[in-house]
Amino acid sequence: MAELVKAYHRVDESIRANRLCSPAQIDDGTVNPVSPLSRALGLSVSAFEIARRGQGDDVSATSLLAELSEQNLTHLRILSETIESFLAVNVLRNPSTNPVARETVKKRDIMTAQLFGVESEIAMIKLKDFGSNLLFQEDIFLFFADWLAFMAPGVAEASDILQLCYWAEVVKAVFVYKKVVKNASLESLMQGTAATSTSNSFKLAVSGMAMEDTRDPYARVPLSDSQLMMLRLVVDKYALAFLRKSIVLMHIRYGLDFECPYNIDTDAPELSRLAALLHMPSLDEVCGLYTTTGTGSDNLRRITKRWISQANMITEHESAHSYSIKMPHPAIFELVGLPKNYDTLTEEAIKRRCPTTGKEVTDPAVCLFCGDIFCSQAVCCMKEKNQGGCYQHMQKCGGKVGIFINIRKCMVLFMHGPGNGSYAHAPYLDKHGEPDPTLRRHHQLFLNQKRYDKLYREAWLNHMIPTVISRKLESDINPGGWETL
Ligand SMILES: [Zn+2]
Ligand SMILES: [Zn+2]
Repeated sequence: MAELVKAYHRVDESIRANRLCSPAQIDDGTVNPVSPLSRALGLSVSAFEIARRGQGDDVSATSLLAELSEQNLTHLRILSETIESFLAVNVLRNPSTNPVARETVKKRDIMTAQLFGVESEIAMIKLKDFGSNLLFQEDIFLFFADWLAFMAPGVAEASDILQLCYWAEVVKAVFVYKKVVKNASLESLMQGTAATSTSNSFKLAVSGMAMEDTRDPYARVPLSDSQLMMLRLVVDKYALAFLRKSIVLMHIRYGLDFECPYNIDTDAPELSRLAALLHMPSLDEVCGLYTTTGTGSDNLRRITKRWISQANMITEHESAHSYSIKMPHPAIFELVGLPKNYDTLTEEAIKRRCPTTGKEVTDPAVCLFCGDIFCSQAVCCMKEKNQGGCYQHMQKCGGKVGIFINIRKCMVLFMHGPGNGSYAHAPYLDKHGEPDPTLRRHHQLFLNQKRYDKLYREAWLNHMIPTVISRKLESDINPGGWETL
């Protein structure tokens, strides 16, 4: 963390030297091609991490890097090295006239201001004026990936920035969830969770952050012990997801070999193992640093205060619907839980009513993202002549992808974008282990969880739905019209 303070001074000087660009400098509207590239890398790493949550059968592995396949590794390395070479070539070649080089310098200044803040509030408002987000409006991991792409720091500096971004993620999680924790009825939530006591340094750090938080008059009322415990559980989840992504990125970017378990306790929780592998302080140690005295702590407090006051400024000017400080889901992504017996699903569909006619649901389909049951290809709920229930539901639920079970056909429907789709067998098998598409054999059908996870959940999490559909199209006669379903 001492290094961090040095890095902070170095960057702060560069801001004071007035290198932060004015709006006039960013008027040509050129998009730096490094931005989408580095987002692609950051999002690919995030997708890999999300798909591996709740998995990992290698008992000797110390981190999820053990699950990074050769193909994944190559793909991510190519992305990362493309960014590096592209930037190197462009920055070296006529830096004064080359637009990529110019844009990169600007982007660097903006990112520095986003992370460290600048002395005057005016400069931060200007930053908003030319379309840049404040730090908490960004996904902090993607911000870190951008930092590595644009700043091209050495390993030591990258590690310092990683620690600061890690702290930013923690502060952001506390900021977002403090209100939720205060309003939640904790008795029901805490049932089943082991009673763990939170550390004193975390408690102090949370009240320290509350002092900066001016959102509501109750902000300074300290949290109760059970509320603190709940908050800590949530913060740990976010910290864990952040470090899991970061270790993959550091491995890709710098080729660091983290599988060196010489002093790693394999029985320790994943969060402490990752912190040890990345040579980072534990969450409690950072909280401790935030609440003690010293130059490093003072700087950390100053930066934290800026983030929180910016976040306050954002929330004051926003309605609850367009809330721009968002946090991604930190837990395991699952498709909706299906009943063991197929008949239960049929009975459930009979109970539902069509919102248009109030009668039985026609051609019922269940969304595997949210579990909603609705009419699919039916006159009652058709909109704009040809938009069926699944298509309409996909637009508001999964966006561009959807997975449904058509209950009468006993088939899974994959959907992608406007106009693409394909059918597959539902994950239900009879006692002989065979599927029964269109339910012709009238056998009892039972859920096969392995098929469900392997064929549908993995296809979804690995972003394979468009691929599944297009592969199927090659072998099928495809009359189109998928949007009518
Ligand atoms: Zn849904
Ligand atoms: Zn209907």
